[in-house]
Amino acid sequence: MQQPSLSALTSIVEQIARTGDPRTVMSNIVQRLRDLMKVDVCSLYLCTPDFQHLILAATEGLSPQSVGKAKLKLDEGLVGHIAASLSTLNLGDAPADDRFVFIPETHEMPYHRFLGVPLLHLRKLIGVLVIQGREREPFPQEAEAFLITVASQLAGTLSQLQSKGGWYEKRTARGSYRRFPGLKGAPGLGMGKLWLVRPHLSLEQVRAACTSAPDAEKKAISEAIAAVSDELESGSGHLGQHLPGDLHALFSVYQMMLQSPELSQQIQTHIDAGDNAPWALKQTITDMAEQFRQADDPYLKARAEDICNIGQRILNQLLSRERPSMETPDEALILAGELISIADLAEYPLHQIHGIICTQGSTLSHTAILANALGIPAVMGVEQFEPEHHKGATLIADGHRAECVLNPPAALLAEYRRMIDDEQRFMQGLERLRDQPAVTTDGFTVSLLTNTGLLADATPGLQRGAEGVGLYRSEIPFMIHDSFPTEQEQYKLYRKVLQAYAPRPVNMRTLDIGGDKQLPYFDISETNPYLGWRGIRFSLDNAQLLISQIRAMLRADMDNGNLRLLVPMISRVDEIQSFRRYVEKAVEALNREGQAVRMPKIGMMIEVPSAMLLLPRLAPYIDFVSIGSNDLTQYLLAVDRNNPRVSSLFDHLHPAVLVALEQIQQQCDTLGLPVSLCGEMASDPAAVLLLIAMGYNCLSLSAYNIPRVKLLIRSLSRQALMSLLEQTRQCSSEAEVRALLAPVLEQVGWGKDKRPHLPEEDANGAQ
Ligand code: PEP
Ligand code: MG
Repeated sequence: MQQPSLSALTSIVEQIARTGDPRTVMSNIVQRLRDLMKVDVCSLYLCTPDFQHLILAATEGLSPQSVGKAKLKLDEGLVGHIAASLSTLNLGDAPADDRFVFIPETHEMPYHRFLGVPLLHLRKLIGVLVIQGREREPFPQEAEAFLITVASQLAGTLSQLQSKGGWYEKRTARGSYRRFPGLKGAPGLGMGKLWLVRPHLSLEQVRAACTSAPDAEKKAISEAIAAVSDELESGSGHLGQHLPGDLHALFSVYQMMLQSPELSQQIQTHIDAGDNAPWALKQTITDMAEQFRQADDPYLKARAEDICNIGQRILNQLLSRERPSMETPDEALILAGELISIADLAEYPLHQIHGIICTQGSTLSHTAILANALGIPAVMGVEQFEPEHHKGATLIADGHRAECVLNPPAALLAEYRRMIDDEQRFMQGLERLRDQPAVTTDGFTVSLLTNTGLLADATPGLQRGAEGVGLYRSEIPFMIHDSFPTEQEQYKLYRKVLQAYAPRPVNMRTLDIGGDKQLPYFDISETNPYLGWRGIRFSLDNAQLLISQIRAMLRADMDNGNLRLLVPMISRVDEIQSFRRYVEKAVEALNREGQAVRMPKIGMMIEVPSAMLLLPRLAPYIDFVSIGSNDLTQYLLAVDRNNPRVSSLFDHLHPAVLVALEQIQQQCDTLGLPVSLCGEMASDPAAVLLLIAMGYNCLSLSAYNIPRVKLLIRSLSRQALMSLLEQTRQCSSEAEVRALLAPVLEQVGWGKDKRPHLPEEDANGAQ
């Protein structure tokens, strides 16, 4: 056996992991590993999702027929022993060991020496990696050390592949019941007939072909682009009446990509080089999508979907293929497909769309954004699901749990139906609460405001009884533009928001880019972006942008009078002093220009621990405080919540966060500063119990959650919550805090798991 280079292996693995389905990637890994280590056998066993069994996921050396079939319990055989004990096993004669279990289909009799190591990722067992050989002596120490290192290097990649699924399941038989996990798209429950949304001819099927008539090909491409543009225009019109405010902007993003000079130019360059139009289109789209995929920013990454979708539409036009008949049966539909675009959605009668399932895509997909706005449950990235094999089947889109349920058995179906009815009644009931105050049973009133920003969409917040906007994330419109918006463009947008809510207050936060919020047209590449050029730091260093934003906001407030300025990421006193000066100067300048703007109230976000500690010194420069619990938690705990390695450590109920929140509330009280909280914490029922006990009387949250949180608040007594808070002061972990709060939530009907469970689910759903 030879000592291979680890870096060679990891680079290969990273390369393979970027392409191919899980089965292929895994079989490539074991093949490379066997070659590198010059051994007879290399096998990978992975845990099933229920962690009851290990299944041979890939092998090089054992019988290929045993892949997906050879199965051991977690403590069965040598492999099971490694999994149960989480320790390495290096034997000279494996079959002679008492723990050895012979699995006939693997044909492993001739192999004696055996080395197996557990695969662990984020403290969780994923599987076992094994090498075997014919010799009758244990593997040398170097091999053991190497395999342990390889296992730790591979664990992350393998864990992703394992959770993707598709590595051992047989295709779900038609008519059989299964649940498929996905990513959150939009909340809610929907049930209906699976309606496949599929492009007629896939861009992927296009193969290399030449042309001898480049001019005709170029003309065909321009016509196809124009036709897609018209198609989008009419789609936007069709959805228009249901779309809140500027959601039309999503269609504009498509239009923008479609009209971008790079798209046409690249296609033309390919045609000039002799390619025919479809092949030129395919290469251009593949290149552009890849550029988006390479971006670190998750928003930009998600744009790869849009460009592929546009490419597909141009191709459809190019080949003059009509889309399949849109005559849908007049019943509830769950639209399912690879990547259902917003333009696809526009083609179906809205009342019939009860859910959306995409086998690709992410939470940041425009489809998810649109589904949220339209109130349609959506699940994205359901990679294991193959909708084309289940046309017409009964499907449930469970947006709460981010899963789809195929062919639920009758009892489960009835249970879901009951839940959907309940949810409808619940929502209708909540509507009656719209104009009621969020007041506890003992008279403590909480103002519920909404977080917004994607659009000038006033409707969802207002419909759900928001008393104002607690956080307008102004960076979001910047993110869906293709360049910095002008003062005039911003003015129009801000005016819509302020107008919609007037006289209710609107906290407009100045640009908060950096961290995971990047602008497509302004690259900020930093080693540690969360500790870098973020929020107010960026704005003060780019004063021209800050000034135009402040001016736009002040002007937008002229007819409305409800603007409150909010500054993100304050960590120093001089930052708020400078900001204040900019506002004062802008007011003066605008007044000089004859625009009668007024000096608005100025607030700061507490997101950075130093702002919390310096509150009394910052107080003279501010009129109010808003706590960004997402960032405050992240910076207090030193946990990047977008980093999957540590995201399980991110919890706003960590005792340190609770201590900080109590301190902020008390200080604000002493200083006479109004304080609100606008992070995700305000939507977490468990957190709401404690925030109310602490004395927070203003929360800002997503429109969807306002009625629910209001209902919760109305069912609680603050006095009782205060003694609960007292008990949590003794807790040393977030788990202890949650355990203390769970029975109280249960009592008021806010138990965690409301999903229907049936005995059949375990029997049929496991594999
Ligand atoms: C927060 O940090 O809690 C917050 C509301 O700001 P954002 O999520 O936009 O960073
Ligand atoms: Mg923040």
